Amino acid sequence: MGVILISSKTGKPYDAGSKWISPKARKAIYERDNHCCLYCGSSKGLTLDHVIARHNGGELRAASNLITACVSCNSEKQDLTVRQYAAFRRGKYGESQAGLIPRIVAAIGHRSF
Ligand SMILES: [Zn+2]
Repeated sequence: MGVILISSKTGKPYDAGSKWISPKARKAIYERDNHCCLYCGSSKGLTLDHVIARHNGGELRAASNLITACVSCNSEKQDLTVRQYAAFRRGKYGESQAGLIPRIVAAIGHRSF
């Protein structure tokens, strides 16, 4: 899952691929989240999802703004906020999302999203 950054040299957006965060920092977040997508519980195709989107002022590399999400949840979520995506999942899958927000709060240590 690529992250779009603005080049400090050219001022133009570019896809930073997976290199925007160090492998060590990425691994630490996966470990914190028990190598499971916080949305669906999958352990396959893990990516990092920004809890507060970059364009809404979320920090790029802060562990307190990153959660583990599988590639299918992350791409389905697109530009939705976490709370919007929880509501979307409730409608689409009919599943209870009661545990989702508390799970994210527990992982990142704050509820300001
Ligand atoms: Zn998932």
